[in-house]
Amino acid sequence: IQWFPGHMLETKKQLKSAVAKVDALLEVVDARLPLSSSNPFLKRIATGKNRIKVLNKADIANPETTQAWLEYFNREIKLPAAAICGTRLQEASHALQSLVAQVDRNKARKTKVMVVGIPNTGKSTILNTLAGRKVAKTGNVPAVTRHQQRTSLKGNIDIYDTPGILWPVIEPRQRGLVLAMSGAISDTAVDYHDIALFAAQLLLERYPACLVARYPFLNPLPGAPQDLIESVGNARGCLKKGGYIDFQKAAQLIIRDLRSGRLGRISFERPKDINTNYDTDQ
Ligand code: GDP
Repeated sequence: IQWFPGHMLETKKQLKSAVAKVDALLEVVDARLPLSSSNPFLKRIATGKNRIKVLNKADIANPETTQAWLEYFNREIKLPAAAICGTRLQEASHALQSLVAQVDRNKARKTKVMVVGIPNTGKSTILNTLAGRKVAKTGNVPAVTRHQQRTSLKGNIDIYDTPGILWPVIEPRQRGLVLAMSGAISDTAVDYHDIALFAAQLLLERYPACLVARYPFLNPLPGAPQDLIESVGNARGCLKKGGYIDFQKAAQLIIRDLRSGRLGRISFERPKDINTNYDTDQ
């Protein structure tokens, strides 16, 4: 299944004409899932344009994994990339200036930059931070309009106030699961039970210490994802009539903790796990 709402077709057309007006495209991805939160279509519409990448939400991603991703993009793919927290002005502004300097050395004129990315990566947050006021509507409506305004920033950069919205790609299955786990797509786009088990497996395999810190009652740590969810449900009183564990409720609790960063700084994918089904040239 391809999650492709009708309005996205219109967005695609608008996006192409908006891209024609800019010098550089800044793709915002989620630092916890830099591949899954990217859209390979961007590469096609960006022909002849400078492309730069921001790994946003680095404050809730695993620092070592983020470093590995930066090396992957900057060294292997040769795509200038930086990691930031979108609400920190210094960080965002410095990253943008350094990325633009790497692709556009003609500083006699302004560099026009447009922010693009799939919903929920933090595009509006970054634009608001950089402009120091509320410029972009936060939310997932396609917003590349003819009324786009530009904001001038330090470093001879002009940035368009409304981001270009790309759609999330949910194939292969693993990609859909990672996106749903991050909250970038609706839980209903992928089976909720599968998302919960996938999340529990990731936590058990890579972040056992985070689990113990958040759920100290897990002693010993269960070995299987299903058991992890049930133990958390049991300890947190997620019960149905008759004393049965409410799996859905327990799973929701864990996923909410994971998404919000309450479970610690967790990355959902690492460069070393790159699946050959992915279009990695992004
Ligand atoms: P957009 O759909 O790409 O415009 O994304 P938004 O700017 O609306 O952000 C989506 C969600 O991510 C919101 O709940 C933001 O508060 C949150 N968010 C954005 N940037 C960051 C960040 O750097 N760190 C964290 N922890 N959350 C962020």
